Amino acid sequence: MPDIIHLLPDSVANQIAAGEVVQRPASAVKELMENALDAGGSKIKLIVKDAGKTLIQVIDNGCGMSETDARMSFERHATSKIQKADDLFAIRTMGFRGEALASIAAIAQVELKTRRIGDDLGVQIDIEGSEIKRQETVSCAEGTSISVKNLFFNVPARRNFLKTDSVELRHIIDEFQRVCIPNPEIAFSFHHNNTEIFHLESGSLKQRLMGIFGSSYNSRLVPVEENTGIVKIKGFVIKPDFAKKTRGEQFFFLNKRFIKNGYLHHAVQSAFEQLLSKDSFASYFLMLDVDPKSIDINIHPTKTEVKFEDEKAIYAFLRSAVKKSLGQFNISPSLDFDQEAHLYNMPLKPVDGIYKQPTIKVDENYNPFKTEKKEIAERELSNKANWEKLYSRHVDNQLEFEIKKEEETQQTINTDWDNDLHESNKKSTYQLHNKYILTHIKTGFMVIDQQGAHERILYERILEGFEKHKSATQQELFPKTIELNTPDFELVKELQSEIQSMGFDISEFGKNTFVIHGVPADTSDYDSVKLLEGLLENYKQNLLELKSDKRENLARSMARNTAIKSGRGLSQEEMQNIIDELFACKMPYNTPSGKPTITTFSSDDLDKRFKK
Ligand code: ADP
Ligand code: MG
Repeated sequence: MPDIIHLLPDSVANQIAAGEVVQRPASAVKELMENALDAGGSKIKLIVKDAGKTLIQVIDNGCGMSETDARMSFERHATSKIQKADDLFAIRTMGFRGEALASIAAIAQVELKTRRIGDDLGVQIDIEGSEIKRQETVSCAEGTSISVKNLFFNVPARRNFLKTDSVELRHIIDEFQRVCIPNPEIAFSFHHNNTEIFHLESGSLKQRLMGIFGSSYNSRLVPVEENTGIVKIKGFVIKPDFAKKTRGEQFFFLNKRFIKNGYLHHAVQSAFEQLLSKDSFASYFLMLDVDPKSIDINIHPTKTEVKFEDEKAIYAFLRSAVKKSLGQFNISPSLDFDQEAHLYNMPLKPVDGIYKQPTIKVDENYNPFKTEKKEIAERELSNKANWEKLYSRHVDNQLEFEIKKEEETQQTINTDWDNDLHESNKKSTYQLHNKYILTHIKTGFMVIDQQGAHERILYERILEGFEKHKSATQQELFPKTIELNTPDFELVKELQSEIQSMGFDISEFGKNTFVIHGVPADTSDYDSVKLLEGLLENYKQNLLELKSDKRENLARSMARNTAIKSGRGLSQEEMQNIIDELFACKMPYNTPSGKPTITTFSSDDLDKRFKK
């Protein structure tokens, strides 16, 4: 019998390796972006067509490659990043296995253009199914551009296995974010089908997170920082009020590499302990920095799993670092000084001229993380708590120089105060220029932006509807049809279950058309077709502004579309409802997009103006 074992040709070996390294377009995006990072440039551009099925292109302004290196880069186990086995334990680069480009070139049509910094000319190499088709000297920009076309063109089984564009795009966005977050000093952009969906300037980590997740994150992030001999921890957790019901934003980066680690996740989740309801998850963006010697990242081809030498110690440090930050934040559970400083920027000067450190005592009945459903009674409680939040500082001053009963508990005073406020403000609510609601408070007056306030109210109501999977629907007497262009039709299909949870009753009706049978209960004044169109328009706009959470985006868009506008006259009752409902909100002080809804003026300030 003849011997039967033979070596596989490179192209086949590469294709097999590709199965591990490149599972979907997003894996190629990850590898190419990591190479661009390793090349050390300051700017990385990602261009994608059809969710990566047609084109993935990464352009960097990094070191570039010589002609020989460019050719070598497509060989398997060809890398410039390590030389000997020992180097595996000192890795600071993203890549080191030398198999990404070989794998990608085995299953796609690749065009590489690269020029070393300082060289006059660059080189272009076209390679298809591991076969070099063209190599020539070209003039091109310094740095490297790699285009990967028609991924899996020669592996139909793989290609057919790909999910819809929206799913594949989601994966690409995930990988993109995982590369961008730990590298805020590098500028990134991401174009999909000729639309720029991310544009991230170089900046701080906080700015990077806001660039990706929206400016509302400014008030949601709590910094975490801890340096121990074993690990440096740096980053942010999201305030528990904004915890998600879905495993949303959980990012660990180990030496700038995104990793998944259930054990460390547990450390963070447990640091949140009672701050989260049972069914919600902590969100975090945490950078861990350890000596590369103490970890092994070579246990999985995609390198998202890592073995630690000191896993237990890291667990303990991480947990205590997060606890410490949350503790600091807990001292003032609802006051965010970045966002709400405007409420307090008018000093309330005590008569004796001495400021008393406000001792903000939390109403124990108010628990923003309560798991039970918000029933009416609870709404009222939280309403009260919000009033207390707004006035607790004023109350403290009041306590000092007016009431002078030091032993009184804060709780009692707050309650009296609260009643007082309600009484006085019921009697004196005015509308200014059909735009602002003006209401008297004991220490002065408060101005509420009617449109912004109503947006906040609707937004929270809609989000609550999502959680309960139900909002009231009003059936249309005469159902209407809405005809959409193909992308919008696809978008509605993708969002259909969420749109229905908001109270729309819609069903598909042939090509590019939906029938609207019902609309959310208190929107019957609106033309249902216009309403849905407005919602889509706003949703898409928000997508461009990087709002990635579907529900939040829909809630924002719907609130924006249906809120009472500036310019509309309001009755006393309507104004009172807005005030009451605003203060029953979790975050009454801002619109969903982060603009203030309320501002206060103290009578001290008025006195000053009248030179009293
Ligand atoms: P690895 O990143 O593991 O070294 P790759 O197959 O991803 O392996 O890349 C092979 C080599 O090609 C790299 O080691 C690097 O020298 C070179 N290379 C790849 N992409 C770039 C790039 N964008 N700029 C400069 N050099 C690159
Ligand atoms: Mg690489």
